[in-house]
Amino acid sequence: MIRLKNGFIVKQGNEIEKVTIYIENGKIKHIFQGDHIGFSVECEIDAEDNVIFPGFIDPHVHFDDPGFTEREDFESGTRSAAAGGITTIIDMPCTSVPPITTAENFDRKFSIVKDKAYVDFAFWGGVTPFQVKSGEYKKSLRELKERGIVGVKFYTVSGMETYPRMPVDLMDKAFRELKELNLVCAVHAEDNFLVDYYSKYLQEIGKTDPQSWFEGRVYEAEPEAIWSVIGVTEKVGNKLHIVHLSTGEGLRIIKWAKNQGIDVTTETCPHYLLFTVNDLNVLGAILKTAPPVRRKEDQLALWEGIKDGSIDFISTDHAAGKFPDEKNKPNFWDNYAGIPGTQLMVPIIFSYGYHSGKLDLSTIQKLLSENAAKRYGLYPQKGITEVGADADFTIVNLNKKWVVDPAKLESKGKYSVVSGVELSGKVEQTIVRGVVVYKSVAGVLCKKGQGKFIKSTL
Ligand SMILES: [Zn+2]
Repeated sequence: MIRLKNGFIVKQGNEIEKVTIYIENGKIKHIFQGDHIGFSVECEIDAEDNVIFPGFIDPHVHFDDPGFTEREDFESGTRSAAAGGITTIIDMPCTSVPPITTAENFDRKFSIVKDKAYVDFAFWGGVTPFQVKSGEYKKSLRELKERGIVGVKFYTVSGMETYPRMPVDLMDKAFRELKELNLVCAVHAEDNFLVDYYSKYLQEIGKTDPQSWFEGRVYEAEPEAIWSVIGVTEKVGNKLHIVHLSTGEGLRIIKWAKNQGIDVTTETCPHYLLFTVNDLNVLGAILKTAPPVRRKEDQLALWEGIKDGSIDFISTDHAAGKFPDEKNKPNFWDNYAGIPGTQLMVPIIFSYGYHSGKLDLSTIQKLLSENAAKRYGLYPQKGITEVGADADFTIVNLNKKWVVDPAKLESKGKYSVVSGVELSGKVEQTIVRGVVVYKSVAGVLCKKGQGKFIKSTL
């Protein structure tokens, strides 16, 4: 057995309680209030009077393996998660080549990444319009479900040749199948026609500045696409999840749908909470992502959404471009759209959520762990500090101040939207199934392969 001592867990609001936690075979065996020394143990982990959270989850990352491993791979991606206090990541299907649209592609990816992970991982599955048209999708989705995917990713707009956008008629068919399988349908929601036309138009008239990226990814494209996919879900009755929500207007529609009893959830990302189009003009390509960061009123609406629970959890949409090569083009359109974020989500949320007084500790715990675990069928193995759950913990020094140095990030993409910024709150230790995989004083500690695949129970 292992004793985890001198730590506090969150009760309600900002109320914390000192506990001693015993770990056996990677699971939580006992939790005692206060100091406890009743059992003999092989080793002790000292939380040093910091707060012990249930292991945080990043439910939306692109680790690009196999496929674009010059940008990121499973080793560097999961190292950055470990160093960021993330104990489980859920990897997207579309930036793997081939995409995870069949059992064969799943098995291939699994065999390539399984010995590289430093933290636990789950997978999103995928489906293409060709599969739906041919009828092959039913077999593939069932086989992917058997393998334990959490859900399937859809795009209403896509620049990826291997993973095209899904039109409404085919989306309806795929949603129906996924309803049968009880899996989540996650959608990147931006209207194809608006984004495609205005992005091309602005390039044709010679616009090359950051502002034109914002203008081309038309604001209304997000609410337009959200309306549309909610329309499909209303007919089908599937589980819908809108990824990386960026607009207040999109949030308004999601709230409406929730009030109608439609099974829709959403997430937003740190960059939408921290930045606006004005910052895009200052930070340039570093902050380029899709959808783009929006206006001040959207930023405020998103904060309100995470406070009132209409935004269910936070993800990073971690996507690292080759740096500096893919982020230094004078023509803004030529730069890679993506931000590596998994290592910094936790301290960003403590800095800008907790220390600003917007979010209390129990809300942060839900937003960064419990809610995603529940939505994706990882709960109660993940997402909670309770006897029987996996001994996954993120130990945070709430008040420690430190300055972000992108050169020291574990991701291959050594750039950050908060480069040089002083953050308040530091991940001191990351523990995956009882193993300390990261310590702030020593770096990533475990061997690769420590992270295991977690099957969704949906
Ligand atoms: Zn994404």
